[in-house]
Amino acid sequence: MRDRLIAALVTIFISVVGVAQEPTSDETVMDLEQLSQAFSWNFDTPIEVETVADGLHVFFGIGGNIAVSIGESGVLVVDDQFPEMIPKVNEAIEELGGGPVDFAINTHWHFDHADGNKALGPAGSWIVAHEHSAEMMAKDNIINLVIAKYKQDAYPPDARPVISFGDLMTFHFNGGDIELIHAGAAHTAGDVAVIFRKQNAVHFGDVFNKLGYPFVDVDSGGSIDGMILFCETVYAELNEDTIVIPGHGVVTDMPDLAAYIEMLKTVRQRVKALIDDGKTMDEVIAANVTADLDEVYGDVSQSLGFINRVYTSLTK
Ligand SMILES: [Zn+2]
Repeated sequence: MRDRLIAALVTIFISVVGVAQEPTSDETVMDLEQLSQAFSWNFDTPIEVETVADGLHVFFGIGGNIAVSIGESGVLVVDDQFPEMIPKVNEAIEELGGGPVDFAINTHWHFDHADGNKALGPAGSWIVAHEHSAEMMAKDNIINLVIAKYKQDAYPPDARPVISFGDLMTFHFNGGDIELIHAGAAHTAGDVAVIFRKQNAVHFGDVFNKLGYPFVDVDSGGSIDGMILFCETVYAELNEDTIVIPGHGVVTDMPDLAAYIEMLKTVRQRVKALIDDGKTMDEVIAANVTADLDEVYGDVSQSLGFINRVYTSLTK
C-alpha cells in the first residue's frame, strides 16, 4: 500500500469531515473504483522498464513495483499490480526477449501487489506466496488504512498461490538462486523479501516503501517492531553493493535502506517514550515526533497515518 494513498485519504477526510486528529473510519469502506477515482489511478498508464542488472528488470506502472527475471529458465516476476496492467507487462517482457510468465511471486497479499494474479493465474503462471498471504487471498478482507478502509474480496481459486511456504524457499532459476525470506510479520503477517543472488538485488515489498512513511497493516498482524526486525534480518543477508527494490518508488541502495531502518527505530523509540509517559494517541500525534524526518519521508499528513499505526502496534 502506498503512503501517497494514505496522504490523499487524509486530505479527503479533512475536507469532508473537517478534522484530522480523530479519524473514525468505520463508515468509509472503499472499493477499487472509489480508490482509483480518489487517486486518479489510470490503468492506461504505460509500463516503464528499468534494467537494474543483467537479466533483471523493474517494471513501474500502477501499484507495487514488479521485479522481472528473464533468462534461460523462463520468466519469473515478483508482484503483479493489476489485471488491467498484465497485457502491458507481457508486452514489455516480450520486448525484452521473454515469453509467458512462469512464476509470479507475491511479496504479500495486498491488492496493489497481487491483483494481477487474476490475469496471470488463469493464463497458466504458477503463483507463489507466503502461507499467510495465501490464506488472506482466499477470503474477504478489510484493510484498515486508518483514515478509510478498503475491501479486498477473496480471489478466485485460479488467482491464488499454488505454492506457499513458511520461512524460506529457494528457486534455482535463470542461472542463480532466488531466495524468498519471510522474516516474521512486518508490513502484514505474510511478507516476503526476494533476493536475486546472481544479480545481487532484493525486492522488499512494502516492508520498504520509498514513497514516504510506510503503512503498517496492524489490523492484519503487522507491527513496527516486526518492520524493524524484518528489515534488519534481510539487511544482514545482503552486502554494501546490493540493489534495493522497494515496494513503491525508485530503485535504491543499501545506505538508503540503512537510513530507513534508522528512521523506523527513531520513530518507534520516540512514540514508545510518550506512551510510557501515559500519552494518548492524540497527544502523541500532537507532539509531532517526526518533524525532523518529514523532509525526507513525507509531510505531516503522511506521518499521521504512520504514527497512528506505530502507536496502535505498541499499545495492542
Ligand atoms: Zn501493502
